[in-house]
Amino acid sequence: MRIHALPTLLVNQIAAGEVVERPASVIKELVENSLDAGATQIEIDIEQGGIKQIRVRDNGRGIHKDDLALALSRHATSKVNSLDELERVQSMGFRGEALPSIASVSHLRLTSHEIDSDCAWSITSNGDEVSAIEPIAHPQGSTIDVRDLFFNTPARRKFLRTEKTEFSHIETVVRRMALARFDVAFTLKHNRREVLALPVAEAQVDRERRLSKLLGAQFLESAIYIQHEAVGMRLSGWVARPIFSRSQADMQYFYVNGRHIRDRLVSHGVRQAFQDVLYHGRHPAYLLYLEMDPVMVDVNVHPTKHEVRFRESRLVHDFLFRTLHKSLAEPAAADRAMASEGGQSTAPITDIPSSTTTVVQHTMPLRVAERPVAYRSSMQMQMQSPSPMQAEQADAAGRTTPPLGLALAQLHGIYILSQDADGLILVDMHAGHERVTYERMKVAFEGEGIRSQPLLVPVRMQVSRREAELAEGCDEAFGGLGLELDRTGDESLVVRSIPVHLQGADVERLVRDVLSDLVIYGSSKRVRQEINAILATMACHGSVRANRRLTIDEMNALLREMERTERSEQCNHGRPTWTRLTMAELDKLFLRGR
Ligand code: ADP
Ligand code: MG
Repeated sequence: MRIHALPTLLVNQIAAGEVVERPASVIKELVENSLDAGATQIEIDIEQGGIKQIRVRDNGRGIHKDDLALALSRHATSKVNSLDELERVQSMGFRGEALPSIASVSHLRLTSHEIDSDCAWSITSNGDEVSAIEPIAHPQGSTIDVRDLFFNTPARRKFLRTEKTEFSHIETVVRRMALARFDVAFTLKHNRREVLALPVAEAQVDRERRLSKLLGAQFLESAIYIQHEAVGMRLSGWVARPIFSRSQADMQYFYVNGRHIRDRLVSHGVRQAFQDVLYHGRHPAYLLYLEMDPVMVDVNVHPTKHEVRFRESRLVHDFLFRTLHKSLAEPAAADRAMASEGGQSTAPITDIPSSTTTVVQHTMPLRVAERPVAYRSSMQMQMQSPSPMQAEQADAAGRTTPPLGLALAQLHGIYILSQDADGLILVDMHAGHERVTYERMKVAFEGEGIRSQPLLVPVRMQVSRREAELAEGCDEAFGGLGLELDRTGDESLVVRSIPVHLQGADVERLVRDVLSDLVIYGSSKRVRQEINAILATMACHGSVRANRRLTIDEMNALLREMERTERSEQCNHGRPTWTRLTMAELDKLFLRGR
C-alpha cells in the first residue's frame, strides 16, 4: 500500500480512541469546556448510563455563531495561540480535539447563546456530516447534546458495560470536578431522576457540606483541614486522620492547579507521610489541592490530561511529604482543647496568603462544624508559646484542665478513665504508652545518627548496569544511610556494612529498594522506615501491658506525656489511643434534658 493522508472522519475517530473511552469521558470533556467558558451553573442529564444520551448545559460565555462549525473541527481552539501560552495554560482544555472526537462517534448537537448576541444558534453533526446552523431559543450559555455514543464504531460499543456501571463512572467524574470547583453549582440527573444537586459553596461551612455529600460525613468528621505555602507551592485541603483509613486507595483526590491527576510521585509522597501512623496495608483518604506557577508543571503530556509532569519533581515530592507529615504529627488533644475556645474561620482555598503559613483545622462532627474553628499549627504555636501542647482549658469553676483531662481510675487494667471540662475521656493505656515510647526512641535515634556495622559475610548481588552506576555514584547517599557498598563488576555489587539496627534484615531486598527509590525519587527513606519498624516493635514490647495496675499519679504522668507527644492520637499500628464521651453525649444516652 502507498502512503496517503487519512480522511478527516477517520482521523477524528482515531483521536476519539484516546479521548473518548466511555460515556464518562464525554462528560469530563464537556464539563471542562463549560468550566473554561466561565460557567457557574452546570446541569448534566444522562439517559441509560450515557449510552443513549448525554446532555450538558451551562451558563457560560457561549460560542460565537460563526465559530460553531469551527468548534467541531479538529485542532480549533479559543484557548491558546502560541507555544508560550501553551506553557502557561490555565484552562482545562487547549488541544481542540474533544468536540470533533466526540462528534465523530455520536450524533451531536451544539447549541449556544453567546454573551453578546441576542439569539442562540445550533449546529448538528452525524458522525461525518455537519449541518448548516439554525436559530433556536436558548438562554445564555451552551448545551451539548450527545446521542447514541459509538453508533458507528461497533468495536468500541462492545466495550461498554451495563447502564449502572457506566453511570457509576460518570458519577466519579462529576464528583471529581465538583470537588475541585466549589464556586460552581452542579446538578446530575440519571433517567430524569436527580442524583446530585450541589449549590455554589463559597464559605468553609458550605464546602464542608458539599464534601460530606460527596465523600460521606465520616470522612469529614475525621478530616484535618490543612493549608501550607512554601517554596512557590501551596497545598490545601482535607486529610483524613489515620484512624479513618481505607482498605482501597479509593478516596484519594489530588488536584494540581484545579486539575484532577493521578501521579506516582504524588501518591508516593503522601503515602510516605502516613507511613508511620497507618495500619499496615491500609490506604489514606485525602482531598488535596496543590497550586503552583503553571510554568512549573507540564499538562500537555497526555490526551486526557490525567497525568502531568512537574518541572521540579523532587521539590514537589518533598514539599508534599513534609507538609503532610507535619500536619499528621499534631496531637489531637491539643486541638480539641483549642476547639472549645472558638476561633476564626480559615481563609478560602482561592486566596493565597502572602507569607508562609500553616493552618491545621480539625473538622468537628457536624454540630460543631457549623462554626468553623481555626487552629494554630504546632509550628506556629511553638513560635508563640513555650509550652504549646499544654494548652489548657478552663472548667466551670475557673480551674484549668489539661487536654486529656485528669485521671479518675483504671478500668479492668486496660483503660484510663479521665475527666475534663467536657466530660469523660477514655485512654487505651498500652496503645498510648506505645506511641510515647516509640516517638521517644525515634528522637533518641535521630540524635545519634545511623551507626553502621560491617557484615561478617559481605553480601554479593547482581544488579542492572544502571543500578551499579548509580550505587557507585551515590557513595555518600548510601554512607548516610549506614550502608557501605562497592561495585565489583559491570553488573554486580557487594554490600559490606549495614546499619547496626538492621542486623538480620534482608540486605539484598533493602539495597534493591533503596536503589529503585534513588532512581525514581532521588532520595530514599527506606532505611529510616526499616529502622522505624524495628523501633516500633521494640516500643510495643517495652510499653505497659494490660493488667498492670497504675497509680493515679502514673496515669496522669502518662496522659501529660501523651499530650506532649506527636502522633499520640494513634498507636504505632494506627489504632486510636483515646476517645471522648462528652457530657452532652452522656446526657443523650440517659435521655436527660428532653
Ligand atoms: P478545547 O477545549 O481543547 O479548546 P474542544 O474541542 O473541547 O477543544 O472545544 C473547542 C472550542 O469550542 C473551545 O476552544 C471553545 O472555544 C468552544 N467551546 C466548547 N464548549 C464550549 C462551551 N460549553 N461554552 C463555550 N465555548 C465552548
Ligand atoms: Mg475541551
